[in-house]
Amino acid sequence: MRFRSVFFRAASRAKLGAPAQQQRFRRTYSHLRRPDSERPSFGIAFDIDGVILRGRTPIGGSPQALRRLYDADGFLKVPFLFLTNGGGVPETKRALELSELLKVQISALQVVQGHSPFRRLVSRFENELIVAIGKGEPAAVMLEYGFKKVLSIDDYASYFNDIDPLSQYKSWGLKQSYERNYNSEGLQPKYDVYSERVKGAFVVSDPVDWGRDIQVLCDILRCGGLPGKENGHQPPLFFAADDLEYQAVFPSERLGMGAFRIALESIYNSINSRPLEYTSFGKPNPFVFKNAESILTKLVTNMCQVKETMKGEKCGLDTIYMIGDNPKVDINGANKVGHPWFSILTRTGVFRDKNNHEQYPADLVVDTVEEAIDFILKKECTS
Ligand SMILES: [Mg+2]
Repeated sequence: MRFRSVFFRAASRAKLGAPAQQQRFRRTYSHLRRPDSERPSFGIAFDIDGVILRGRTPIGGSPQALRRLYDADGFLKVPFLFLTNGGGVPETKRALELSELLKVQISALQVVQGHSPFRRLVSRFENELIVAIGKGEPAAVMLEYGFKKVLSIDDYASYFNDIDPLSQYKSWGLKQSYERNYNSEGLQPKYDVYSERVKGAFVVSDPVDWGRDIQVLCDILRCGGLPGKENGHQPPLFFAADDLEYQAVFPSERLGMGAFRIALESIYNSINSRPLEYTSFGKPNPFVFKNAESILTKLVTNMCQVKETMKGEKCGLDTIYMIGDNPKVDINGANKVGHPWFSILTRTGVFRDKNNHEQYPADLVVDTVEEAIDFILKKECTS
């Protein structure tokens, strides 16, 4: 339990001076470094839902499987990260949650969520008004990435009377979450939403109130970023992922962000003369796998403290194992990218068949993530 005290102590210090911040950084990432270690030749990317967790419950022997990737002193032996299409909370918070659930020390660098690539759009939208949609803390996610003018769709919709004609029939209360805490003005909008156009809409995580969100997004997108006004040019729309279904706690799959995208697109195209334009991130987009590859390389450098480029060595890994439960998303994505990716399909989530998946066959099919780790460590001779 040593890692927990280190993590929580560091996280609880809100105001630290520069030396203390450096100390905190060293502590948070301390498990990545073993000065005398050799450069690992392989890395692992884990999907989370249906592989590591179901809801908040570890599955497939995931805690013991992950422990094998650390040495006896708690240093990371094998570079790994989580590559999930899920999200809704900042990577720092997700890393803490995963550390607690799985009983191993995980840093924010090891958590790549569906919305993580949004970080790359900061320079384009940094000072523009944007709306963040989805469960959890979508606005907090975007603010942590560096976007400056963010409103969650809950807060944005609350400033427009009657924008949702069904709100009076909804038994749940509108939760004014993150922004309200930082807005001493109470119910006054933080920004002039009645004259300032929304310049981008970001679906960060699975939308909660589909009916309201589709209505408000159609308003924003059709009216050039100003609901209730004349039609205008559609602002850019981004989705963190495009999963049609995913495995949650319920026995059969649940509708994901891809299903919401289909609903929004179908409705928008029925009421608008120009079709909806959007960009989707998340697996199986090859960009996501390339991004994971560069993060794993960064992890390796952190672990070994080697100036690889100065030594003239190649920075890349010989093999990266993708362990996932969704053939269409995890396996398809890894296979599309090819070398150095090696795909492993588990039977703990979306996929349950005896044989390999026909349309998106994996390089290896196993029952659980524990079995996958067993195979990898034997193959790499590091167990
Ligand atoms: Mg999954």
